[in-house]
Amino acid sequence: MHEMTIAMNVVDAVIKRAQENHALYVTSIELEIGELAGILNDSLLFCFDSVCKNTIAESCKLNIHSVPAIGKCHHCEITFTVESLFAFCPDCSQFQVLIVSGKELKIKSFNYE
Ligand SMILES: [Zn+2]
Repeated sequence: MHEMTIAMNVVDAVIKRAQENHALYVTSIELEIGELAGILNDSLLFCFDSVCKNTIAESCKLNIHSVPAIGKCHHCEITFTVESLFAFCPDCSQFQVLIVSGKELKIKSFNYE
């Protein structure tokens, strides 16, 4: 499952960094996920809970920050919100749209004790 792999990678990366800082527990993780990243938040949260069991991140809170999807037309250079990777420009109707945000998947920060 896609979300399971992501949850494992996120938790691994955070625990590694937390241990370098001599953390006892990870208390929360802030994730940024683009609207077009293709990730189901509910599914990710579910996988996250099971991945964290019996680690220093057990019972840590995962906060998901959604990043809106924005496209930019190559032709008219206007920016607009998009709902898919295959968006077209609302002005000239061309498909030459560069997705400038909305594909993010990154750990913004995390807290530990
Ligand atoms: Zn255009």
